[in-house]
Amino acid sequence: MNNNKIDLHIHTTYSDGQLGVKEILEYAKENQIKAISFCDHNVLGAYSFLENMIVEDYEIEIITGIELNFTFQNNNLHMLGYDFDWKKMNEGKYINRKNEKEIIEEENKKLEFLKSVCKNQGIKFDENLKIYKSNQLASTVMKYHMMEFKENDEILDKMLGKNREKSFARGYVHNPNSPFFIDETIGLPTAIDVANLIHSCEGKVVLAHPFDYKDINHKQYIQDIYDLGILDGIECIHTRHGIEQIDYIKSFCKKNNLLITGGSDFHREQKQTLGYGANGTIPVTEEYCLKNYTQIEDHER
Ligand SMILES: [Zn+2]
Ligand SMILES: [Zn+2]
Repeated sequence: MNNNKIDLHIHTTYSDGQLGVKEILEYAKENQIKAISFCDHNVLGAYSFLENMIVEDYEIEIITGIELNFTFQNNNLHMLGYDFDWKKMNEGKYINRKNEKEIIEEENKKLEFLKSVCKNQGIKFDENLKIYKSNQLASTVMKYHMMEFKENDEILDKMLGKNREKSFARGYVHNPNSPFFIDETIGLPTAIDVANLIHSCEGKVVLAHPFDYKDINHKQYIQDIYDLGILDGIECIHTRHGIEQIDYIKSFCKKNNLLITGGSDFHREQKQTLGYGANGTIPVTEEYCLKNYTQIEDHER
């Protein structure tokens, strides 16, 4: 088995990533990553950008990808789509075609709400705080803003932990029991809706990072979505999947004849994590490139 690295889960500035398409391609080439997929949230901007670029020079295989939000049992969850006709999908119902200005306006509305909750909770903030870039999420901006004020230290110790290691988004903004709760599941498609869209564009439906959620029974979740009969594969390697979780998914895929995939869920400039999962410790090798696990094993024997 050769050890070429791939990365099938990368975000760009078209969603909430911090690097552009070109920068990621350059970095992937430097690091000899053989195949990548840009999987922005509900948008395909990276692929229209690539249309106007000569990508052959990079010698990297680009597999079309997207990460679509869906709702299941009142949770806001993620499904990956791969290897589809992107132009066809770009006409699809669940693709976000809002322009930059509209996206920024939407996040600023959420930010205003978060400010009003801060006021009620006695958390200090600057009334003039605003979002100016379309890749900035209200929850992230608010978290780092609150941290700027020493006066908030005590309350933030309780909310986010001493090292601020807890996620403000997951623990508060997406938590129905928190005053900061913003219901982002309103109007979201179901798992079957997003799978139908991906399949109608000749793509593969891959369940994204099933172990990367708080407050759900992960193994039950995998089984429940599998039982819908819509999956072609499951994302095995991911930044926040540990080795036991990767093994669990692999054996589930083997048992049920599903494809395995892997990616870093790359967002920020910690470039060393490109091509690695499990918090930067496990390389994503070519066997995770939408391949059938059973076939790989037979081949190795
Ligand atoms: Zn995700
Ligand atoms: Zn992602």
